[in-house]
Amino acid sequence: MCGIMGYVGPQQAGPILVDGLKRLEYRGYDSAGIAVSNGDIRVQKAEGKIANLESLIEGDQPNGTIGIGHTRWATHGAPTDANAHPHADPSGEFVVVHNGIIENFQSIRDELADRGAEFSSETDSELLAHLVAQEYDGDLVEAVRRTVALSEGAYAMVVMSKLEPEKIVAVRKISPLVVGLGDGETYLASDIPAILHRTRDFLIIEDDEMVIVTAEGATVETIGGDRIEREVTHIDWDAGQAEKGGYEHFMLKEIHEQPDVITETLGGRLSEDGTVRLEGVEFDDAYIEALDRVWITACGTAYHAGLIGQEIFRRVLRLPANVEYAHELRYANPIIGPCELMIAISQSGETADTLAAARIAPDHGARMLAITNVVGSTLSRYADDVLYTRAGPEISVASTKAYMAMLIGQYLLALRLGAARGTVDEELAQAVSHGLHQLPGAIEEVLGREQEAISAAEEIVDAEDVYFIGRGLDYAIAMEGSLKLKEISYLHSEAMPAGELKHGTLALITKDVPVIVVLTQRAVYDKTISAVQEIKARGGRIIAVAYDTDTEIEKYADTVMRIPDMDDLLAPVAAVVPLQLLAYHVARLRGHDIDQPRNLAKSVTVE
Ligand code: GLU
Repeated sequence: MCGIMGYVGPQQAGPILVDGLKRLEYRGYDSAGIAVSNGDIRVQKAEGKIANLESLIEGDQPNGTIGIGHTRWATHGAPTDANAHPHADPSGEFVVVHNGIIENFQSIRDELADRGAEFSSETDSELLAHLVAQEYDGDLVEAVRRTVALSEGAYAMVVMSKLEPEKIVAVRKISPLVVGLGDGETYLASDIPAILHRTRDFLIIEDDEMVIVTAEGATVETIGGDRIEREVTHIDWDAGQAEKGGYEHFMLKEIHEQPDVITETLGGRLSEDGTVRLEGVEFDDAYIEALDRVWITACGTAYHAGLIGQEIFRRVLRLPANVEYAHELRYANPIIGPCELMIAISQSGETADTLAAARIAPDHGARMLAITNVVGSTLSRYADDVLYTRAGPEISVASTKAYMAMLIGQYLLALRLGAARGTVDEELAQAVSHGLHQLPGAIEEVLGREQEAISAAEEIVDAEDVYFIGRGLDYAIAMEGSLKLKEISYLHSEAMPAGELKHGTLALITKDVPVIVVLTQRAVYDKTISAVQEIKARGGRIIAVAYDTDTEIEKYADTVMRIPDMDDLLAPVAAVVPLQLLAYHVARLRGHDIDQPRNLAKSVTVE
């Protein structure tokens, strides 16, 4: 999920690696490290900013012309010196840097421990170094191949060994990897901007491929060992564009990363039959059975994720569930019992309001579970249980992929709790699991229809007020769509339950006021259509988010943004995407600074 660098050639590797890592700083990270070889391998790594790594290196320069480097975004183990990459096997002969997650981490670790292995970190990544060493019998490429066969997940790994000191072997399984071709020197990186100032000629490594890098160039193979003739891609973007992966803004890049984020968040946690295993969520079945109520507390976009969670928990668990704004909950004298669970949601895990509200739970003897994107964050340290969202660093102030990962996390939690409470039977578990695994493909489809969002954006760009309506889960999505639009387009917008419109706000509906209606909940479809008719009767304009098979809406809507048919329970995940794109395109048409909207900060650390 974070940054990878590699170099082999005639120059000293250390400064090139550090320079590359610095060019990836914009992605966010929590620690950094390098390994340089001159026959013997030196590993230097430090928690925190790359400046810490630089001061470590300053008085103690590594010597060698081949090396690998990493900026880490922790998923397994806190951001510490020991957990920073590179990781070595106990002999120190093999070093590895790794992005992403090894899903069968626990079983590999247990097996290695049974054979007497000792570990110097809490990471999943270190296990790769142990496995490569275990599998090595004179051929590094084969050892890496066998390690990949043993390691499930979506990741990229890069290996260097003092036993074969002239090469770096790397593998891509979903997490990105590119090779930069120089003159008698070759670079490896997770992202083009790390090395774009050194070369413009790249080999783009695809999923399930491996690459063997030497100073003379690189050989690309399938994981199975078949040679691939990869054409050289000449990059003529500038560095700024390259940072955004060719997208105009980080927000758009992050919107497009959402299918992969879903895969990561589900990875290793949800089996085909719907069984859920959540590392870091420690409560047992007896605790779940005794549960009386679920509280969810959060702010902003995380609160909107909680609105979805509230509805899912009620539907799936038949259990009282309430979402409360964290800043309100604190002062609302909440009546919380000891058999209740408080779920606190915050992307950064540093949201001051949420931290303060989450602290109420233990005062009442209740358990607190954090849903957060940042390992080792303050919220995760307060919590009894933690569900990490695995969205990777989010740069855009307006959250998209982290929100989506929060939704997926709550579906997993509902399945886990429902299985223990007996409200989710095998059939339902299997159906939801199937639906969740289909989501990345469904989201890809929605992303392929960006033009629909652009047309809708053109329709509302000059409006002064916009309303978003929906019922149930659609109302929760309407809330998030409205907030996204406000945050980056500065257009006044309000979301409300579709049934509420006629109780007052309808007075404001004129032909100049577009109303965006979300229509994925079949049980209340007709009721929502009644609201749509009320709007049409006042000359209002309708933009809808609806299923592909919904032909009824065409009678009323001026523009329809479509999503593939799916179970209503999961539809919010798909329905939010056109609204994210809509907000993005309105802001772009209005010429705003999309990634850094005025008056807003990414992490709200004040109360
Ligand atoms: N899962 C690994 C860790 O926690 C890699 C994280 C990353 O992608 O930076 O160390």
